[in-house]
Amino acid sequence: MIKNRYIVFFSIFVLIISVLYFIGFPLRELTANDMESIIIAGDENFPPFEFIDDEGQYRGFNIDIMTAIGLEMGVNIVLVPMIWDDAVEALKKGEVDAIQGMVKSAEREKLFSFSQPTKDYEEAIFVHYDTMYITDINDLAGVTVVFQRGDIATRILKKHTEILPVFVDTQADAIELLLDGGAEAFIGNRLSGLYTAQKNNVIDMIKIVGEPFKDLVYGPAILKESEDIYEILNEGMIKIKKSGLHGKIYKTWFGETFRHDEMVRRRYITIALISVGSLAVVILIAAWINRRLSKLVKKRTSKLVEVNQKLEAQQIETHKLAYYNSVTGLANREMLVKKLHSKINFFGDEEQNFAILFLDIDKFKNINSTMGREVGDKLLVAVSERIKTTLVWSAFVANFDADNFVVICEKIKKEADYASVASKLLKSMGEAFVIDNYEIHITISIGVAVFPCGSNNPQDLIKRSEIAKLHAKNLGGNRHCVYNENMEKYEWKNLALVEGLRTALENDEFRLYYQPKIDLSTGKIIGMEALLRWYHPELGKIPPDEFIPIAEETGLIIPIGNWVIKSACNQTKKWHDAGFKSLHVAVNVSPRQFQGYDIEKTVEEVLEESKLEAKFLVLEITETIVVDSVNSANNTLDALKKLGVSISIDDFGSGYSNFSRLNEMPIDEIKIDKSIVQAAENSSDARVIVDVILMMAKKLNMLVTAEGVETVDQREYLKEKQCNHMQGYLFSPPVTVEKFGEILKKETI
Ligand code: C2E
Ligand code: CA
Ligand code: CA
Repeated sequence: MIKNRYIVFFSIFVLIISVLYFIGFPLRELTANDMESIIIAGDENFPPFEFIDDEGQYRGFNIDIMTAIGLEMGVNIVLVPMIWDDAVEALKKGEVDAIQGMVKSAEREKLFSFSQPTKDYEEAIFVHYDTMYITDINDLAGVTVVFQRGDIATRILKKHTEILPVFVDTQADAIELLLDGGAEAFIGNRLSGLYTAQKNNVIDMIKIVGEPFKDLVYGPAILKESEDIYEILNEGMIKIKKSGLHGKIYKTWFGETFRHDEMVRRRYITIALISVGSLAVVILIAAWINRRLSKLVKKRTSKLVEVNQKLEAQQIETHKLAYYNSVTGLANREMLVKKLHSKINFFGDEEQNFAILFLDIDKFKNINSTMGREVGDKLLVAVSERIKTTLVWSAFVANFDADNFVVICEKIKKEADYASVASKLLKSMGEAFVIDNYEIHITISIGVAVFPCGSNNPQDLIKRSEIAKLHAKNLGGNRHCVYNENMEKYEWKNLALVEGLRTALENDEFRLYYQPKIDLSTGKIIGMEALLRWYHPELGKIPPDEFIPIAEETGLIIPIGNWVIKSACNQTKKWHDAGFKSLHVAVNVSPRQFQGYDIEKTVEEVLEESKLEAKFLVLEITETIVVDSVNSANNTLDALKKLGVSISIDDFGSGYSNFSRLNEMPIDEIKIDKSIVQAAENSSDARVIVDVILMMAKKLNMLVTAEGVETVDQREYLKEKQCNHMQGYLFSPPVTVEKFGEILKKETI
């Protein structure tokens, strides 16, 4: 191409001019005989400031500056290249007098004196030329950023904890990793980064985004005790700056060759000059073509810009979707694991003392089901805000899933530290949340796993914090527990149950058992209660008292409960068809099935499908359903009553029984709790309760069933008091479908 040839010619011309200009510059001939010696260390690999070149020579901007100071002050400066960390160590031990270039910081000023700076220190964010979703430091949340190990740029990580850092030894490695896709950005010295990129011929593949960070200065660092050396270097620096020597050296290293913006500008000027020339010719020859062309270009450009913008938006959106929770905007499980991986694998300068706090809102499911999902979501946002404001900046907060949050607390040194973080969090939840005019009071349970906690695997660490959380929950919630191995033995079963319940329905692991209900006056079976049984493939038979609360907590009770209603109705219809036409079936219904979910629809569908008459279905509900949510429960109860099913209050007398409410509810039957039935044998108080229940029920026209009847005395007492029905081991425990069928047949014989 003609244009390229021009550029080459022009560049050669500029190069020759530069060489001629600087050839007269005598720095490298300068010698330093008859002088006192100062030993100064420097980095062996920080081009163009100081580095060993391909020929093994120690060169760079700092080397020239030091040589110039040596000449100016009449001292012999001996420069020693070292690995950066060794150089710092050598200076601390007094093995060398100074380091020629170090970034000044409050921390370092405690150890060293800093002379007049050699230069302002600029750091920049480098990204791949095609990366669009990073435009400044605020876009680095969840982004893998590479740093040179030990570089001052790593201080950024203290403030921007959401960055996922990766560490390498040299700037060249950093840029290589960036271009290989191993990191999405690189933060380091601006000039050095550009120099390295240019040397490796990749300058066109990277770009700098955002404003460079310029809050630091860079210059010789001298041991505090060596005041005389400080004086020499400080005065020397002032002198070479005054004489203009400093400026010349600066120009040699940074002025012409590789400043990226300068280079780009120069390239554009060259191109512009050539274009102007050619354009003049083109305009003369074909003005009209040019006009058309420019129109076309404009159209194309605007299209390109549009496509580019779309692409950019898409990139940002995909990144968000993959790594952030859509409700709270916090990092999600994937991001949390990513973050933990990088924390565990790449140490950097930071100390690896941290703890994982697993937070779970106690009984959140109830809020969702009683107040609706929208309120639930708003509450989650408010809770996540409160967590963030309660914690210091060094904590990373993720929204693990639904109402589970995970916090990574840094710099945790002793138990008291995380105990205080945990109690701060517990306390902060004490204040009510006001959402859509609801005043919501919540508590949380916290599980703590302190790294390394017996594993280097992020998933294990999270699991252990979750186990500790389960433990806190089991102790009643609103507290924190710290993980220990013993907990695992105790809690693993709980975890296995949660996991197992998810697949139990599809794996056909549930069965219904039936317990006969007997008419006390005739001694005949009038119906049965369906009781759920679960056969876990590994843990064996699990009693309902163990798995029903978990099914309620996880919401799985809804599909499971539906299955129970359906199976019970189908089976009862079969018995009806076999000739036992008056049997009614009682099904237990959890409060959760009653809240925020249309149980009446399910019941209606099941009755229709099974062809069982509604009057043969009894739903056993608990008093809490009635007491907790009088209005909404009432609507549901009314709807169910309209279908024709009966409602029974289960376990009556076991909690705080509210007799007055019974009056307002459309209830057909009361079941006296087995604890009262059994106590009545020996306790006059219990007998009073039984009497009152029977009296009340009679008044309200309700039937009464006594549960847990185990002895003849109990049966006789209830019979005498004119209790209607009974259920209990005295007659039969809950049995399989087959066994129940046999009992029915025997009774008719
Ligand atoms: P529940 O509704 O009070 O059920 C009666 C419980 O008492 C049953 O325990 C039954 O086996 C037991 N029982 C019956 N007769 C006697 C007796 O004479 N003495 C004694 N000591 N106990 C007797 P099970 O089957 O272990 O069920 C426990 C609880 O699990 C049930 O209490 C109920 O609350 C719940 N449950 C069972 N199946 C379901 C279900 O399908 N859905 C829901 N939501 N809950 C269920
Ligand atoms: Ca029951
Ligand atoms: Ca009961």
